[in-house]
Formats: sequence, C-alpha cells, structure tokens
Amino acid sequence: MTVVLDTLTRGTTPAPPRGQTSVLRERGQREVFCGLTGIVWLHRKIQDAFFLVVGSRTCAHLIQSAAGVMVFAEPRFATAIMEERDLAGLADANEELDRVVDELLARRPEIRMLFLVGSCPSEVIKLDLSRAAQRLGRKHGPALKVINYSGSGIDTTFTQGEDACLAALLAEAPRAPADAEPSLLVVGALPDIVEDQFRRLFGELGVGPVAFFPPRRSGDIPPIGPATRVLLAQPFLGDTAQVLERRGAVRLPSLFPFGAEGTTAWLKAAADAWGIDPARFDRVVAPGQERARRALERHRATLEGKRLFLFPDSQLEPPLARFLSRELGMIPIEIGTPYLNRALLAEELAALPADVTISEGQDVDRQLDRCREARPDMVVCGLGLANPLEAEGITTKWSIELVFSPVHGFDQAADLAALFARPLRRQSLLRV
Ligand code: SF4
Repeated sequence: MTVVLDTLTRGTTPAPPRGQTSVLRERGQREVFCGLTGIVWLHRKIQDAFFLVVGSRTCAHLIQSAAGVMVFAEPRFATAIMEERDLAGLADANEELDRVVDELLARRPEIRMLFLVGSCPSEVIKLDLSRAAQRLGRKHGPALKVINYSGSGIDTTFTQGEDACLAALLAEAPRAPADAEPSLLVVGALPDIVEDQFRRLFGELGVGPVAFFPPRRSGDIPPIGPATRVLLAQPFLGDTAQVLERRGAVRLPSLFPFGAEGTTAWLKAAADAWGIDPARFDRVVAPGQERARRALERHRATLEGKRLFLFPDSQLEPPLARFLSRELGMIPIEIGTPYLNRALLAEELAALPADVTISEGQDVDRQLDRCREARPDMVVCGLGLANPLEAEGITTKWSIELVFSPVHGFDQAADLAALFARPLRRQSLLRV
C-alpha cells in the first residue's frame, strides 16, 4: 500500500488553470459498493428493459437490500444465481443462463431490452457474457435486444455500473451523418421530473432538438455523430464520454448541474453552442436562479461555516463540494473521490477552494485517521463507514442517497442542500 503525493501538473490530462496544487493518491483497502447498485435507478429509467445479474447469492442480496424499499409488483431486475456447481465449472453455465432467459421471457413478454450484468463470480469463472448476449440476441431478436456489461466490484465503485451500462448501450445508437442538424444529447440517468424541467428550459432557450440518454423506452435511442453536442449530467461517465467522442460527438465542458451556479453554467454551455443571445439566456434562466437562491437561503444558516470531509464513494464528491462551499458556505477539508477524471472535472476543480486536499482512491485506515484528526462537522461517506463514525459522535451523510434522489437543476437545489442540513439539524436537536 502506497501513498503518492502527485502534483496535477504531472497528470496525463491537463491541469486545471487554477485551484489545488496537489492530489493525494492512495491505493489501499477501499470501502465502496459495487456497480450492481446502479441497477436500482437504471431499471426505473428504461421502462421496457430488464436487468439480469449473473451472480451469486451475495449479489442477489445486495440488489434486494439496496432496492428493497422501491421494489415494484413486477421488478425489472433479477439475479440468475450461480450455484456452487457452476462456480466449480461442473455445469454448463451458458445452458443454465439460456434456460433462465427462456423462462424470464415466457413470463415477461413485454421486455424489449435485456441487460446481462456481469458480477465478480461470473468474471472469476470467466463466463463470457458478450458471447452469451450475441447468442441470446440471435435467438430472441429482433423483438428483443440483448446487451451485456459488468457491474463487478473488482476494482470499481458503484456509479461505474451506470457508466458501463450506458457505454454498452451506445452500441445500439444509429450513426448520424456528419451533415446532420446539430442536436443536444444529455447523458446520465435523471429522474423523469428533472428531465422534463430541463427539456422545458432548453425549449425556451431555443436549444434543440434535445434527447436524453438513457431514454425512457429502449427503442428511442437517437442517432449520434459529429453533429451531436453532449452535456454530461453526471461526473462519473468517463467511459461513456469516450465512446461518444469516438463516434464524433462533441462534449460541452461545464460545471455539473448542481445548485444555481452549476445549473446556470451547464445550461449556458448549451446556449453558447447554439449561439443563443445572452439577453434571452438571462431572461429564461432568471426565474429558476431566483427560486433556487431563495430556497437555498433556508439552509445556509445550518450549513455555513461547517467543516466537511468527503470520503471517496460516488464520484460526485468534487461537484458537491463546489456547490456546498460556494453556495452554502461550507468548508471542505478533504474531498475524496474513487477516481479523478481531470478532463471531465476541469471546471469543477478550478472552482474549488485553493487550499482543499483532494484525494483519489482510498486507504481507508489512513483516511479515517485524517478524518478523526480533523474532527469535521459532517462526513459524507458510504454506508459501511457511516455507523462507526456516528458512534464516534461524527455526523454523517450517506453518499448513495445522492444518486437515489432528484438533485439536479434549479428546482432541486434546495432538496440537495436539505440532504446535508437535515443530519446537522437532527444532531443539534439531540444535543439540546
Ligand atoms: S458483484 Fe461482486 S462486489 Fe458486487 S455483490 Fe456481487 S460479489 Fe459482491
């Protein structure tokens, strides 16, 4: 286990123009969920898709407990459990998988897209799910598309499940010709209500046509090509962004749409690409900005001046720290992130306080030592660390809640702030 103090100027991607001078890079024991977790929000988004995890009972338990409070009468996910016989290579796992898929499709003929989701066990026995997807696609297509990706926890964190899913799903996007009309693609799973708000704002701005990816119906994937302009809604979509760029699409660099400032910058990136008159932009966004700023004031008194320590978990940590420090006056001490994609986060890094420590990766014991020494007012971390830290009297916020809740855009800015203000208020009441 090593700790490397690495300067941003030595990175493989360009250093931000200003901001922090160093990143603490750690490689040690990590406390994060695996990529299967993404199924919990993805299965609600693509309404005619089904996610079949090929994994163990542990994988099934993870999905069931993560999604437990949200299970529908007919959930759109399941686990094909590999028994010990399969793991020992004694049974033909492919035959078993085909049988499970036949049964599933007989019961659920409305499924139009089937995701075969790999796991640690399927990777360990080297079950080739890409060949399985091709085989099952030939058998059940064209009415059913079969796509595979990995949600394995081997060296990944939980938001990478969405990245892997979306990168794989892009193979289904038709190619748009180079001379196609410019179009905007918003990338990252957003709750429908947030999508509708953004769609309305882009319409009022005169930006479009606009498509959201992933789509609500699997057949609605738009053509993608050199005329496609991409706005990422989430900072953890590095692989998806690379696939889009290989297709010729152009990413519009921006802050991410958290808070009034981030949302304004994000919309402005699109408006500038479409050459929208600045006066029109101001007129369209002003009401949302005003609503967000007024609503945030309610939480400022609770959050201002509070010291914040973020453990690496969701990869949302840098934009969250930017929002909490610039719009609510919190003081980030350490901003941990499992991976630091400097290209996607250049604008966010430049907007962070100059003296904050940014750490990439994790050596959990060392990080806990730094956290205890700093005695922050609030820690943002995964579920595994929250209970022990609460027991030590440190107020925590589960980072996984940030991907389960609508937090993007002007009208969700106060809800995002409330996720952090609530535990602090509760703590102060308990202390009285
Ligand atoms: S994919 Fe790996 S880390 Fe995730 S639940 Fe299954 S065994 Fe555990």
